[in-house]
Amino acid sequence: MTTHYYSPGPASLPTAVRDLIKIELLDTFGISVSVMEISHRSKQYEGLNEETLRLAHDVFEVPDSHKLLITPFGAQQHFSLLLNHLSRPGDTVAYTETGVWAHLATVDARASERKVAVVYDGNPTLNSLGQPETWQIPENAKYLHLTVNNTVEGTEYPTLNFAGKVPLVLDMTSALASRRDIPWDRTHLIYASAQKNFGIAGCSVVVIHKDIFEQARETAKRNILGNALNYCSIYDAKSVLNTPPVFPIFVMNRYLHWMKSAGGIETMERWAQERARLVYGEVDGEFYQGHALPEHRSRHNFVFKLKTPELDALFISEAAKAGIHEIKGYRTLGGVRASMYNGISLESAGYFAQFMRTFKEKHG
Ligand code: PLP
Repeated sequence: MTTHYYSPGPASLPTAVRDLIKIELLDTFGISVSVMEISHRSKQYEGLNEETLRLAHDVFEVPDSHKLLITPFGAQQHFSLLLNHLSRPGDTVAYTETGVWAHLATVDARASERKVAVVYDGNPTLNSLGQPETWQIPENAKYLHLTVNNTVEGTEYPTLNFAGKVPLVLDMTSALASRRDIPWDRTHLIYASAQKNFGIAGCSVVVIHKDIFEQARETAKRNILGNALNYCSIYDAKSVLNTPPVFPIFVMNRYLHWMKSAGGIETMERWAQERARLVYGEVDGEFYQGHALPEHRSRHNFVFKLKTPELDALFISEAAKAGIHEIKGYRTLGGVRASMYNGISLESAGYFAQFMRTFKEKHG
């Protein structure tokens, strides 16, 4: 039976990428040495690294106004790093409370003696992202931090075209490489760990506006961040300041190649919308209750409930018998969450939608 694995992250890789990794793992460069063993100063690894940086720029459609680097951290380290590159104690910074990860980003900001303006609080339901055009964003805020896709709650901004002039900082951990509408002029910084849309855990991508790059370097120094935590030093070292997480970067390289040959983010975006259409087509109606307001639905994390917790549990256990796994809702929300990133095929999404339909016919 085919396995349909809808984990919120780490997430399924495209089948072609999995297959390629299996073939290349133990002899990655044709010299009988694996990518896990080769020196990061070897010409083979340097070639892989430089190609990955180039491909990431290209596939993520990063304009020349921005610099891209790869760091060894996950997304949560960036909560603290970004604020230490973009602000000083006493500065005002703006955040939204839209879910578990957005909240943790504000916790780090509060702990660092910034004045934190929460311009939107979606609690307690966390099923909406509000009306950004009505937010009161302090004009002196160094940035507005947004979690573009709330992985736990299954909400996502339909547009990133916000009113006002305050620079944007975007957590795109579960959104990079699946939407093209980034307002680059206004975006000072983007970060995303790789394990959802373009790789496995162990590395993340940071994109910084060139206009603030040198200023960010100095701000980080004044905030007493060590050299190896300074984005600019990592960038200067072509993202090989540490001994890098070579295997995750290799996987990212193969994933980026796969995306490029499939037609780039344009295709990824279209497929994400199509998967969402298939699943929400079943969520709509009487039997399933979607968590997010329709206008703020995530294109990756499909969160819904059935009429009773017992029916939720039956849905999850019947799904397992049909080869569908890792769909239990987050502990604070209950219900079901099926997460489908770039690695999930349209056929798989169709299979899940069909399962929902059959389950409804049987138990509705
Ligand atoms: N931000 C978002 C939107 C996430 O979904 C996650 C993880 O699921 C994180 C941050 C934290 O990522 P990491 O585990 O790489 O620190």
